Amino acid sequence: MKTIGLLGGLSWESTKEYYHIINETVKQQLGGLNSAKIVLYSVNFAEIESLQRQGRWQDITSMLVHAAKSIEAGGADFLMLCTNTMHRVADEIQANIRIPFLHIADAAATAVKSRGLTSIGLLGTRITMEEDFYKMRLVSRHELQVLIPSEKDREIVNRIIYEELVLGKIEAVSRQEYLRIITELASRGAQGVILGCTEIGLLINQQDTPLPLFDTTMIHAQAAVAFALS
Ligand code: GLU
Repeated sequence: MKTIGLLGGLSWESTKEYYHIINETVKQQLGGLNSAKIVLYSVNFAEIESLQRQGRWQDITSMLVHAAKSIEAGGADFLMLCTNTMHRVADEIQANIRIPFLHIADAAATAVKSRGLTSIGLLGTRITMEEDFYKMRLVSRHELQVLIPSEKDREIVNRIIYEELVLGKIEAVSRQEYLRIITELASRGAQGVILGCTEIGLLINQQDTPLPLFDTTMIHAQAAVAFALS
């Protein structure tokens, strides 16, 4: 079994889900007392979020590269960055380590394509929905068509992430807003929706809508186990 490197704390509300899903999946597959081998480096999200708001991407990169190198030095065989948004600096992180890096958008795209879907909605932070690093990877590497919510709805999706979900606040009215936005994406042609923020799965799940949902936390964590056991 390979040792999984988790760069987490972005936020810890979703990192605890990674830890849980990874260990549950190893238990299901290997049985008995088996559990995952993990090196976890968890950052202080307040520091990162403040740098994000100031657009200080170089400082964020330095902090995450330092964390990634520590994980590598700690004996991890590969690295998982437990957030969609911070994949904005994935190339820089990858360039500074020797171990493989499992990109969250590739894992999500593989899951979407395995269901035969070609047109997909994307929910996440403003950075994930609006900038190219994530969408363009889905489009150019995976030939998916990507739809994002309207400007007004992107603001709502983003606000709920930063003011509620990363704080562990789960509100029924926010769930209704997300479901309304998902329905809207479907009416514009989305055959499914990528929950492209690792905390969204805390708010909504497949039982809430008939439209296929792709929870990146679940998909990424399961991809980690598949790789660790390969
Ligand atoms: N966990 C979130 C994501 O998957 C947002 C937190 C962050 O800004 O990294 O994008």
